[in-house]
Amino acid sequence: MRGAVLYGPRDVRFEERPDPTIVEPTDAIIRLSATCVCGSDLWPYRGIEPITAPTPMGHEYCGIIEEVGSEVTLVKPGEFVIGSFFASDNTCAICQAGYQSRCIHNQYVGAGGAQAPLLRVPLADGTLVATPGTPSDDLVPSLIAASDVLGTGWFGAVAAEAGPGKTVAVVGDGAVGLLAVLAAKQLGAERVIAMSRHESRQQLASEFGATEIVTERGDAGVAKIKELTDGLGAHSVIEAVGTQESMMQAIRSTRPGGHVGYVGVAHGVELPGEELFYSEIHLHGGPAPVRRFLPEMIDLIWNQMINPGKVFDLQLPLADVAEGYRAMDERRAVKTLLRP
Ligand SMILES: [Zn+2]
Repeated sequence: MRGAVLYGPRDVRFEERPDPTIVEPTDAIIRLSATCVCGSDLWPYRGIEPITAPTPMGHEYCGIIEEVGSEVTLVKPGEFVIGSFFASDNTCAICQAGYQSRCIHNQYVGAGGAQAPLLRVPLADGTLVATPGTPSDDLVPSLIAASDVLGTGWFGAVAAEAGPGKTVAVVGDGAVGLLAVLAAKQLGAERVIAMSRHESRQQLASEFGATEIVTERGDAGVAKIKELTDGLGAHSVIEAVGTQESMMQAIRSTRPGGHVGYVGVAHGVELPGEELFYSEIHLHGGPAPVRRFLPEMIDLIWNQMINPGKVFDLQLPLADVAEGYRAMDERRAVKTLLRP
């Protein structure tokens, strides 16, 4: 098969790779209906997260199971499935508590490189969730969104305790931030404030349920959130970037007693202890336990209650993966969907 391999900064190649095979009896091999480029793929793509060897890329996937190992019993060949970037047994105490991304047996599915036609998924029984049937083609973008970006935005909203009566602010207008808006709305938030300076992203945020847009960022963004909330700050703030500036913007936009859900992969973030002490807020975040939310998200998508697939503003054949990265790197695209 041919898949995406990163060689160095801004050097993604579509090249021959070995077909994946069943390695453990708990594995499944999936033929992907779609895959995509994640905002987090841009960290190594830009060289901010250096790589030491050519690296197969991609960790978002959905498709039809081709083959399962001898110990897989809950999913079977022919089923359409979605899974998260972390494989999990879904049975250990950490999984049972809803933190499958930190499963004691977790494995990074992206190690297999999902920007390819075929993918090996470890711990298939605990990781994969089957849809009620084979989806029509127009549902596939929304279903693959559930694999990461929607699941991550959803966790951000849950971690920030978005819900009825709450004012939610979202820092970051990438795909995760935009889908965090959708999640906050679904969770019943009264107001959802999207922080974005880009018109097309503001429009999408509004479609997903944002009630207000704040274009300022940094200290000016914080001041604007306070102005909109009687000087108090938001109840719930979702951080979907992962930089020092965005994290501090999220913390300072939160009222005392409020919650920050942080899901942007942290890069060089250092929290000032004294400021944190006097802020009296809750911080909860990390790599999203997408598996916890998959059944609910699949149900909402299957019944066309939500359309997170709208976040893909560029669709390309997998062979054009390099252009998919370039478009996101240059912010010409929010998110690229790739069809093998
Ligand atoms: Zn587990």
